[in-house]
Amino acid sequence: MTDFKTLWARLQIENFYWKIGFYALCSAGLVHALFIPLFLLINLPVMAFINVFSVFIYWYSIFGLGLQTIETRNDGLIGWLVFTELIGHNLLATYYLGKDAGFEYYIYVLAVLPFFIFTYRQSVYLFRIFLVISLALLIDVSPLFKTPKISVSQETLSLIHHLNLFVFLAVLSALSYLYALYAKAHQDQLESHVYIDPLSGLYNRRFVYEMQKEIESRQNGWENPAFLLVDIDHFKAFNDTYGHDCGDTAIAQVATSLQKNLSNGIAVRWGGEEFLLLFKRADPATLQTAAERIRQIIATHPTRCRHGNLPLTVTAGGTIMREGESFHAALKRADTALYQGKHLGRNRVVLL
Ligand code: GH3
Ligand code: MG
Ligand code: MG
Repeated sequence: MTDFKTLWARLQIENFYWKIGFYALCSAGLVHALFIPLFLLINLPVMAFINVFSVFIYWYSIFGLGLQTIETRNDGLIGWLVFTELIGHNLLATYYLGKDAGFEYYIYVLAVLPFFIFTYRQSVYLFRIFLVISLALLIDVSPLFKTPKISVSQETLSLIHHLNLFVFLAVLSALSYLYALYAKAHQDQLESHVYIDPLSGLYNRRFVYEMQKEIESRQNGWENPAFLLVDIDHFKAFNDTYGHDCGDTAIAQVATSLQKNLSNGIAVRWGGEEFLLLFKRADPATLQTAAERIRQIIATHPTRCRHGNLPLTVTAGGTIMREGESFHAALKRADTALYQGKHLGRNRVVLL
């Protein structure tokens, strides 16, 4: 058994999926607990007893299997427990109170619920859906579920029916909403993996290639595109002297500087120690000012790593895209400018 504090601490570092699973199990346990006094009130102690058993199943799923489930990333067993509990409990409730009480709605939830568990084989999903549809039809046609087996007033039955319908619809809406939220969060996460470089936190090449068409057609605010390639000077020697880890720190710190000091552009990690800054609207004077400012900031802010404060410089080569020119042609000119800057002695800006 896991105590609540341990489980809660683990959940805090987990993603959305496991948190939702936890809340869903807690809610199901709570709803079953609330039905205990209701069953006693209508003089159906056998269902009250079954509900105690159901609450125990949810309690065991959370505190007995919860932590292990999160650690192994396999929620198949909890899935089966919940599935069996929901079918058993609601078949019995429908048997005792008849189908007008609306407990069969919870069986309908099981037509959706299996898809929240990703670890089952295809055959398991099919088996579950088949079983749920069969049971739903059976309840509808079998005389076994037609009338209540205890004496209960029509008003009470109607009240229970409305309560069950309400909970069923609320659960169904919540499930759909959560599924949409989960899919969106997952998509955002994937997108950030696809377009963001993990070391620098800047965009990567793929992001720029996606924008290439809109830059060339000057849409979406790309009125006068300008490119600036910024390359760290003598970085091979820096790595050789201070180690690759310090090199990584330097790349990350230069990236942060670029990002922070770029008021009107997009910073991209173009290659190892080379960055591309893209400006939507620039003229030679603003490009020169932006490039010079960045060069100066980096030259006057040493990298901090375990060897102390280490000075670094960058060389920048930039250009303004010409009318009708391709993205690659303009970028090639920026690269030529960078090459010239390196040959002129580095730590400088060249625009072509
Ligand atoms: P230059 O002034 O002409 O640009 O010289 P340079 O030494 O900076 O250029 P060169 O292209 O010869 O070397 C680039 C170095 O950058 C070589 C490579 O080991 C290093 N580098 C590339 N990516 C990374 C990285 O992600 N982390 C670290 N630490 N080093 C990297
Ligand atoms: Mg370099
Ligand atoms: Mg380079």
